[in-house]
Amino acid sequence: MKNHYSVIVVGAGSVGMAAGYYLAKKGIDTLLIDAFDPPHGRGSHHGETRLIRHATAEGSHYVELALKAQKLWQELEREINKTLFIPTGTLMVGECDAPFIDKTVKSAKEHSLALETLHAAEIRKRWPGFSIPDHFVGYFEPSSGALLNEECIMAYRELGLIYNTTLQTNTKVESIDFSASGAMVKTADTIFYADQVVICAGAWTGKILSSLGLPLKTVRKTLGWFETNDPNYQHPLLPCFYFGLKNERYYGFPNISGSGVKVGRNDSERNIDPDFMRQDFNQYPSDEGDLRSFLERFLPGAAGKLTQGKSCMITKTPDMNFILDQHPEYPHVKIAAGFSGHGFKYSSVLGELLSQLVIDGRTEYDISKFSITRDSLVRN
Ligand SMILES: Cc1cc2nc3c(=O)[nH]c(=O)nc-3n(C[C@H](O)[C@H](O)[C@H](O)COP(=O)(O)OP(=O)(O)OC[C@H]3O[C@@H](n4cnc5c(N)ncnc54)[C@H](O)[C@@H]3O)c2cc1C
Repeated sequence: MKNHYSVIVVGAGSVGMAAGYYLAKKGIDTLLIDAFDPPHGRGSHHGETRLIRHATAEGSHYVELALKAQKLWQELEREINKTLFIPTGTLMVGECDAPFIDKTVKSAKEHSLALETLHAAEIRKRWPGFSIPDHFVGYFEPSSGALLNEECIMAYRELGLIYNTTLQTNTKVESIDFSASGAMVKTADTIFYADQVVICAGAWTGKILSSLGLPLKTVRKTLGWFETNDPNYQHPLLPCFYFGLKNERYYGFPNISGSGVKVGRNDSERNIDPDFMRQDFNQYPSDEGDLRSFLERFLPGAAGKLTQGKSCMITKTPDMNFILDQHPEYPHVKIAAGFSGHGFKYSSVLGELLSQLVIDGRTEYDISKFSITRDSLVRN
């Protein structure tokens, strides 16, 4: 195996695998290195499905990326000739004055996105599986839905290999030495050299770039699948959903493939070291307890037997915005990290964006809010 590449991508998960695909498609000699065999269950990208919404409470600056990402997922579906996106639509529900509702509606208005307003009685009538108190309001985004995340990563992997990318799996990058003209990427038994490096190491990014002291926090999240035979909880009779309650936030998916209604808690979390992440669900009583309690209150016919549960990691920045930038001292090193629990849907467009940064030194997308030198990162 040769040991010098134009580009080495460290971490071939959600974003890294997409970047490898775009680089290889553009003829760039690229090596992808991953500590495991992606898609896998050790990072941030397992669990069958991810929501893709276009209107978002995370800020209007994400909408352009979400719309482009959706387009690129559809292109990927055509190229791989497999279903990657399930058009369920997404229902956002909250109390009338919930801040996330206001922000989502604002981003939809600014970008003229279709978002239907629905009162509680209308929601109950249209989707009888939901039990919604009268003082709640909902917004339905019909064009959004569920991405089959592991299938998406597999599609980029398969196509990237066709375009001649090199993929080294089950190989941990131990360290990277940067120099003015390139980098030396060390694994347990090989040293690779590259002109440029893209770092997409998810929960391990803080460790790999420890010299930068990035304020990244890695936390454990849980998700569970619950059995139900009630047709009201099957796709296409139930949309994906996101509930912003007073002190809790939950999201979920209809029973898409027979594995049950999937639900996750978005706000509760435990700090963890990614090297010591425990995979097991039900390590804490609240793992299942919180999800079941949510279902009993709002989707009562779906609160059946737990068929499976998983834990997963997300990596947060202090302001929940991504880091998409070049290394402050080494411009030939690009960093894509800190996706703060909402990054998967964008990974198609982020792969394209990273390939532009590598090849042209700039990108057509506005990434000014994702700077590695922004105040909220350096003052932390
Ligand atoms: C439970 C849960 C639900 C979520 N729901 C949504 C959702 O609905 N919508 C959404 O958009 N986002 C969602 N997210 C967030 C989204 O999944 C993540 O933002 C995204 O997967 C992060 O991608 P990544 O490429 O940074 O990390 P990963 O996909 O984890 O990839 C990082 C890769 O780097 C590799 N790596 C790390 N260190 C090394 C090393 N030293 N050497 C070699 N390889 C290394 C890892 O093995 C891994 O494969 C959710 C996340 C979780 C956990």
